[in-house]
Amino acid sequence: MGSLHFEHEFGNKPLDSEEFRRQGHLIIDFIADYKNVEKYPVRSQVEPGYLRKRLPESAPYNPEPIETILQDVEQHIVPGITHWQSPNYFAYFPSSGITAAFLGEMLSTGFNVVGFNWVSSPAATELENIVTDWLGEMLNLPKSFLFSGNGGGVLQGTTCEAILCTLTAARDQTLRKIGRENIGMLVVYGSDQTHSALQKAAHIAGINPKNFRAIKTSKSSAFCLSAEALQATIKSDIEDGLIPLFLCATIGTTGIAAVDPLQPLCEVTRRYGIWVHIDAAYAGSACICPEFRHFLDGIENADSFSFNAHKWFFTNLDCCCLWVKNPSALNQSLSTNPEYLRNKASDSRKVVDYKDWQITLSRRFRALKLWLVLRSHGVGNLRNFLRSHMKIAKHFEDLVRSDKRFEVVAPRNFSMFCFKVSPSSALFKHENDDEKDEKSNEMTKTLLEKINTSGKVCMSHAIVGEMYVIRFAVGASLTEEKHVVGAWKVVQQNLDSILSH
Ligand SMILES: *Cc1c(COP(=O)(O)O)cnc(C)c1O
Repeated sequence: MGSLHFEHEFGNKPLDSEEFRRQGHLIIDFIADYKNVEKYPVRSQVEPGYLRKRLPESAPYNPEPIETILQDVEQHIVPGITHWQSPNYFAYFPSSGITAAFLGEMLSTGFNVVGFNWVSSPAATELENIVTDWLGEMLNLPKSFLFSGNGGGVLQGTTCEAILCTLTAARDQTLRKIGRENIGMLVVYGSDQTHSALQKAAHIAGINPKNFRAIKTSKSSAFCLSAEALQATIKSDIEDGLIPLFLCATIGTTGIAAVDPLQPLCEVTRRYGIWVHIDAAYAGSACICPEFRHFLDGIENADSFSFNAHKWFFTNLDCCCLWVKNPSALNQSLSTNPEYLRNKASDSRKVVDYKDWQITLSRRFRALKLWLVLRSHGVGNLRNFLRSHMKIAKHFEDLVRSDKRFEVVAPRNFSMFCFKVSPSSALFKHENDDEKDEKSNEMTKTLLEKINTSGKVCMSHAIVGEMYVIRFAVGASLTEEKHVVGAWKVVQQNLDSILSH
């Protein structure tokens, strides 16, 4: 197949399977050895611009062997990696890859299909239909979200895309009734804890920035969105002649993993015909365990639901699972039908064409990796894996609670919780109330920076209700109890060291 021509141009044949086997083994060995990730500082210690100083100014004219390239990966790339797979990684939310997902990703990369519609790779579409139904059943989603109940699931890249797509569908559905000229009247609701993805989506979808409501939450209600506050905000918007469009409720907020109460919220939204999207990016995973499913009670009155299998569901980035009750609302906003994509299967309307469920046309075969995760471990093990993370998180929480210098700022629902140096601890007994808050915030911030600079563990922060808090999220696949015991020592030692200065 023109291989002589390629050989001439590439030096190596671009698809020589023996050479691929040899080089592939080198890379697999390299990645398998990466399980010793504990030997690296968790947060990368490099300075901005470090890499430009180390790499040549231009691409090589002549080919280079894989061995040389791998050496450079070890020497120059690895130092600039923050090791999300480290068992001592507790920052943001986990990116908990496991080998089954990695192998699925390899298969998908191997086929390298572009499955925009059914005919372009029937297995890609049909497996995605099946695994989203499987997963929907594992979450005990109402049947109306599954293909078998005339809803359906799609694997998108990220939650940001899922929210944008559902908001756009909701917008167009309403504008078809009230006329496009009224777009300036539409209002979007969330809380001050809702992920910034909602604001970005509202911006891209052309929602008037004045009509974006981030309803205030408070410490006393554990930073959940209150149905009464939502009701009052909607009422006042309607009095002003505005049109309530969309609510994004969150199960497991990014800041502190708060859970918005779906049932009461949906009772409000139902009165006004508002589209409800449930963003469970991180905590959705936990709901495959029967004892956590109650967090989704009320979902039957929502319109769409998404969670990131690439966060705490062991599937390599990227893999956001989105289910909708009414796929045709998505399709009406997102479908295009140029002649070159026309085919008999699509015309028959018997197949799903996922290009009409998302922003992009081209799409990866993501279902394979999710299928491998589900099959290689089984629902029982996946549940136990999640439970073990929650148990480890509880252990750390107990350690924090045993030290009176700290406080846990909100109840822990899942494997993540937040803590800070306590303003009411004896450390600040000479300060007045304002000073206590300010100083405990400052000390918490200094403490986090010291912890991360140590390279021994990595955590991140949030600001909720004017408190600066350290977020501690368990979920890396290699983390065991001994790692959080170690992490707690690092926290204590660094606080001691701050106090001794
Ligand atoms: C992480 C997160 C997001 C953003 O997810 P992406 O997939 O990166 O877009 C949105 N919402 C919540 C609650 C999150 O935790």
